[in-house]
Amino acid sequence: MEKSNQPHVIVLPYPSQGHINPLLQFAKRLAAKGVRATLATTTNTMQSVHTSAVAVEPISDGFDDAGFAEAGKEGDYLSSIREHGSKSLARLLDNHKAAGFPVSCVIYDAFFPWALDVARRHGALGAAFFTNSATVCAIFSHIHSGALTLPVNVEDEPLVLPGLPPLNSCDVPTFIRNPQSYPAYLAMKLSQFSNLEKADFVFANTFHQLERQEAESVEKQWPAKLVGPMLPSAYLDGRIEGDKGYGASLWKPLSEQCSAWLSTKAQESVIYISFGSMVSVSSKQMEEMAWALTSTNSDFLWVVRETERDKLPPGFTESVKGKGLIVSWCNQLETLAHPAIGCFVTHCGWNSTLEGLALGVPMVALPQWSDQVTDAKFIEEIWGVGVRAKEDKSGVAGREELLYCLKEVMEERGHKLRSNARKWRKLAMEATDQGGSSDNAINQFVMKLKVATAVEN
Ligand code: UDP
Repeated sequence: MEKSNQPHVIVLPYPSQGHINPLLQFAKRLAAKGVRATLATTTNTMQSVHTSAVAVEPISDGFDDAGFAEAGKEGDYLSSIREHGSKSLARLLDNHKAAGFPVSCVIYDAFFPWALDVARRHGALGAAFFTNSATVCAIFSHIHSGALTLPVNVEDEPLVLPGLPPLNSCDVPTFIRNPQSYPAYLAMKLSQFSNLEKADFVFANTFHQLERQEAESVEKQWPAKLVGPMLPSAYLDGRIEGDKGYGASLWKPLSEQCSAWLSTKAQESVIYISFGSMVSVSSKQMEEMAWALTSTNSDFLWVVRETERDKLPPGFTESVKGKGLIVSWCNQLETLAHPAIGCFVTHCGWNSTLEGLALGVPMVALPQWSDQVTDAKFIEEIWGVGVRAKEDKSGVAGREELLYCLKEVMEERGHKLRSNARKWRKLAMEATDQGGSSDNAINQFVMKLKVATAVEN
């Protein structure tokens, strides 16, 4: 069989919304530059991916019916996906080779360092893709190198690391402030660095203008090329025809209902609230949020996932009809890009943070766990695009505090925050456009893949 000279990559995301989105987007970017790209995702998430830009093939996590929900415990899930994922990734690589489309490079979610070993055994290159901010990667890489030891104690004075702003206790990722809280996730986050020096390429979903200094501060341990923000092209450079959405949604977005409702609202008059795909918010926090939203002068669109719905105060949905729309899931990009949106109340997941920045929407930061607290610091203090809601002693941002933050963004400081957000939007667009820093980094990668594929053949 004649061999193909077209580089072929397999892209392997961790199977959650916040990981599939950026990795699938990277696959699409590569495909638009002439690379053959195959997304390998778990059997359970296959049906949620709808794209014709790249091929999609299943791998097993050992829980083919319901994925993580079937496993229950984090540790059990992670060891199962490692065991079953390695085997099925190996099979995929063999199959493609037999079919005459050998894989040049496996681009794996940095959560899966084992994928590098599989790639190596099959003669393929390996590229780790990090889905967190460079700042968060820098913090974890300092732990891996031994420069920072656990638990990180920042009660008395801030944590000072080279290249990063001083981090107060509330800014330090919760997994390392309290290592006992989620030991399996902490171990996974640290394992990202376990064999990184052996990877052929390292990528991160951020961009130079946003986090150059933070990335450079750990360049030796974490030599990442910054290729983000990984949003569909239509929202940034517009160069990939038809690339209007991520092409993956683990829940059904109520897009028509949202856009019909938003179209009745005035420009920048609506608050959009979402806690992403994983966070479980306390009932008290939901109640405080409900109160604050009822009390603002603004209308609101709130995503409350089905599993969170019973935390809303009784009768809330009906009582706010007209002023507030509550949906179980939406197309967040479409929503944020809608002219009616004036403020994004976010849990500060890294994708949501990048989406808010890249779409120029000012934010209220309401981080809940993990790295979200670090992202929140940057949203407020470093990038100047939002206000962070302060928690009380019980870890809840109270109703008055939330109301204050909403007013700051919608009224008092809205103009300044919005103009900063627009500046970041412009920089994000430049980074991904032709000749931009992220675009150049991707082109260099494609060039190296082409050379490697030619040599191979
Ligand atoms: N998202 C969405 N619809 C929603 C809420 C979220 O499409 O109603 C998407 C959002 O655009 C983002 C992803 O889900 O790309 C969530 O990722 P993030 O890193 O923000 O948070 P996570 O869910 O991982 O905590």
